Amino acid sequence: MLNLDRRQFLAAAGAGGIVSLGAGAQVLAAESGAPKPRKRVLRLAHLTDVHVQPELNAAKGMAACLEHVQGQGDKPELILFGGDCIMDSFGQTRARTQTQWDLWHKLLQDHCSLPWEGCIGNHDVWGWSKSRSGATGEEKEYGKQWATDALRMTHRYRSFQRAGWKFIVLDSTHPGPQPETYTAKLDNEQFDWLTAEVAGTPKTTPILILSHIPILSASPFLDGLNEKSGDWQVPGAWMHIDARKLIGLFHEHGNVKICLSGHIHLADRVDYLGTTYYCNGAVCGGWWKGKYQQFGEGYALVDLYDDGTTACEYITYGWKA
Ligand SMILES: [Zn+2]
Repeated sequence: MLNLDRRQFLAAAGAGGIVSLGAGAQVLAAESGAPKPRKRVLRLAHLTDVHVQPELNAAKGMAACLEHVQGQGDKPELILFGGDCIMDSFGQTRARTQTQWDLWHKLLQDHCSLPWEGCIGNHDVWGWSKSRSGATGEEKEYGKQWATDALRMTHRYRSFQRAGWKFIVLDSTHPGPQPETYTAKLDNEQFDWLTAEVAGTPKTTPILILSHIPILSASPFLDGLNEKSGDWQVPGAWMHIDARKLIGLFHEHGNVKICLSGHIHLADRVDYLGTTYYCNGAVCGGWWKGKYQQFGEGYALVDLYDDGTTACEYITYGWKA
C-alpha cells in the first residue's frame, strides 16, 4: 500500500480524477463518491495557565499574549481559557484573590476584543486550603463559585454549540485523598451529565472537550522526577484518575474528536482510539520566571473542520521573563 493516509488519498483522487493506486484503492474511491474537501469552520486560540498576578510582569505578559493572538494574520474567532487564570486562590486570602481577579478582568477589558469561554483550574478554586486562605467554607464565593462567576459561567461545567461543533467544558478539580489537596476527576453527577451530553449529541456533530487537567497526556510523566522510585508514579492531581472511564465513554460514542487541557505547563499530543488529546503548555511558561523545562510561554491555535478533523499548533509569543 502506498504511504498515503485516507485524506491525502481522497485529495489525490479528487485532484487527478483518475485513480491508479491499485484495485483496492479504486474500490475505496468508488465507495467514497466524489471527495469533498474539508472546510475549516472555526479557528480558536487555547490559552491555558495564565496565572496572572501583580508580580513578575505577569500582567504585561498576559496583555502581550492577548495582543499576539489578536495580531495573527489568520486570526482566531474565539479564545478558550484553560483554567489557572490567576496565580492562586486555593490557598490565598479573600483580599489576595480579589486582587488577582481584578487584574484578570482589567486585562480582558483592555486587551481582548474576542469572545471567550473558560474552564476552572485548581488554582482558581478559592479557599480549599482553609489553613492558608483563612476561608471558613461558609462564604458565598467559597470553592468554585468565585471562578464560576469570574469566568461568566452558568455552571461549573456546561456545554454549548458553535460552528457545527459541540463544546463541553469540564470541571476537573475535586477534593483529594488528603486534607487540602485535590484530585483530577469528574464527580458522579458531572460524569452522568457528560454521558448524557455525549450520548445525546448526533454522531454527525463532532465534540471538543475543554478541561483544565489532562484526561490523557504524556507530559505528566515528565513533570517532576516521577521515575525516581524505579517505577513511574504519576499523581492523580496531574492527570484525570478517571481517564479509563472517560476514554471508554468517548470510544463508545466515537464523536469526541479533541480534548484540550493545560495544568502541566508542558505541551504534547496523544492520539488514542480516535480522540486527539492536546496538553497545551502555559501562557505563563514557568510561572512567569521563564521557560518551563523546554517549553516557552505560549498558547495554541486550534482549527476545527466540518468533517470532525482538527489541527493544533503551540505558538510562543516571544515573552522575555
Ligand atoms: Zn493547574
